[in-house]
Amino acid sequence: MTETTTDHTDPADQAWGDRYAHSLLGVFGTPQLCLVSGQGCRVTDADGREYLDLLGGIAVNALGYAHPAWVKAVSEQAATLAHVSNFFTTPTQVELAEKLLEIAQAPDGSAVFFSNSGTEANEAALKIVKAHRPGGRVLALEHAFHGRTLGALALTHKEAYRAPFGHLGADVTFIPAGDARALADELDKGDVAGLFIEPVQGEAGVWPLAADYLREARRLTAEHDALLVADEVQCGMGRTGRWFAHQASGITPDVMTLAKALGGGFPIGATVTFGTDNSTILTPGQHGTTFGGNPLACAAGLAVISTIESDGLLENARAVGEHLVTAIVGMSNSQILEVRGQGLLLGIQLASEIAPAVVRAGLERGIILNAANPTTIRLAPPLILEEADADLFVAALPGLLEAANSTENKEN
Ligand SMILES: *Cc1c(COP(=O)(O)O)cnc(C)c1O
Repeated sequence: MTETTTDHTDPADQAWGDRYAHSLLGVFGTPQLCLVSGQGCRVTDADGREYLDLLGGIAVNALGYAHPAWVKAVSEQAATLAHVSNFFTTPTQVELAEKLLEIAQAPDGSAVFFSNSGTEANEAALKIVKAHRPGGRVLALEHAFHGRTLGALALTHKEAYRAPFGHLGADVTFIPAGDARALADELDKGDVAGLFIEPVQGEAGVWPLAADYLREARRLTAEHDALLVADEVQCGMGRTGRWFAHQASGITPDVMTLAKALGGGFPIGATVTFGTDNSTILTPGQHGTTFGGNPLACAAGLAVISTIESDGLLENARAVGEHLVTAIVGMSNSQILEVRGQGLLLGIQLASEIAPAVVRAGLERGIILNAANPTTIRLAPPLILEEADADLFVAALPGLLEAANSTENKEN
């Protein structure tokens, strides 16, 4: 009922899919399409079909595809200096770190560690937490997603992701998301080194944590000398209409992790430590990376941030996001229970388990969507999305729901 292959698969997509099946490790299931190019908010597949992309490479392609500023920055940097190792620094690396600290409104003494992905950004954060209180317990929230390497995986709630691997990289206690009482109780038991949260739980189906909860989490962790880590890998970098989602609650975490949209499609992760105390927990030699912070990735990051600033994309994310919410809620479709989220990270809660079928119906009609779970459609489009394209989706949505409903009824 929830398989993800498309029904229409065209010949070239099919041929690439067959070669894929014979050459790539089967951890992702069958790819839906083989994509060959992209421009703005649209991608084209191997058969020449065009799609409006409302998933944006899972919240990565903040500037859409082939944005001129990004292409220029990355190609010029590639022609100048691509990689040097961390025995050396480069202007782009220093500039991106400074820029991140500026938009994070980080106090003096704050610092950035660059890596290549969200899971690595969280590994670094976990090492900071564990070094802060060696042998201590780590708290994470139910339904959390923090990545797939062994430490980040230990923090990830979904049993099916963790169970096959036995003991993982941290002693983690999961507590209910948004429940300040449960957090206080767990901290009172003692020995807690830190708490990991996603200000908006993305993979879980776009569940924002309440501002009051974030403020309580900040107060309680500080009181117990436990570090508060905000995983903004998905909800950060302008996605919610602010640079970082936690900023809406006015808190300052001890550590923040970033990746996805930071490079706008170029792999880069970052772990930001707030203030001198948090920035001096790891000492020289205690962590490292070969690729992290290389000038090519940092040039991509600088291009993303400067374009978000120059093109007013925080405002655009807010405006187009609100436009989408108003239009979808205004449909009063009985299949839609609610729309959650902020800016351009939205979860459309459906009344039944038809989200995967809606995604298939979307592909048939040239729209890329995502089912975060069987009852939630997740939208995480490029931050450049215009109202006209949002409206194409809004106009198509009732038909997608209807198509999904009728295929599900047929199959059941
Ligand atoms: C995607 C994601 C990660 C993992 O990032 P990768 O780059 O896939 O390793 C971690 N945390 C959150 C909140 C994410 O959405």
